[in-house]
Amino acid sequence: MRGEETEAERRRRWIEREAAKTQPKTMRCSKCGKEVDEYMEIAGRVLCVDCFLLEEMEERGAMRMPGEGSGSG
Ligand SMILES: [Zn+2]
Repeated sequence: MRGEETEAERRRRWIEREAAKTQPKTMRCSKCGKEVDEYMEIAGRVLCVDCFLLEEMEERGAMRMPGEGSGSG
């Protein structure tokens, strides 16, 4: 009785490891609902890159409140 694992066992272990490695980790954007494998996590929310940039722009826009209402356009 040998303490070595059989080839089948070794193969199975390898496949399991490879499967875990290559499994794409996709998340669903909490804003637009798009499934993305590249995402940002902000305050527990998952945002795709597009929504992240949008939120950032909105945040910057909100910080610069248009105080004067004298807009010529
Ligand atoms: Zn999104």
